[in-house]
Amino acid sequence: MRLEADGREWGKVVDWGASPETELGEFTDLFDPEEPPEWQDRALCAQTDPEAFFPEKGGSTREAKRICQGCEVKGECLEYALAHDERFGIWGGLSERERRKLKKRAV
Ligand code: SF4
Repeated sequence: MRLEADGREWGKVVDWGASPETELGEFTDLFDPEEPPEWQDRALCAQTDPEAFFPEKGGSTREAKRICQGCEVKGECLEYALAHDERFGIWGGLSERERRKLKKRAV
């Protein structure tokens, strides 16, 4: 479908049909914000108290960090948090402040 206004063509809308997965393959994952990353199925924190990972200001992060140490997807989790600029909570065993420091050092 052509998009026209004021006698000019502004673009086209592509019709991917009833099944865009067939046309786009794995790229459909990139555009689906509802789809959680695969590694989250193996997240150890999903089997524990989520509040430990999002403590109140000044609250202890010790228990969450301890759990992260034994989590098999710690690397993926930290990478995700850094890439998505997660502001709150413990991700990949690090607090928001620790992630910020890590990011600064990487620059
Ligand atoms: S590293 Fe920690 S926050 Fe990340 S998925 Fe594992 S337990 Fe959860």
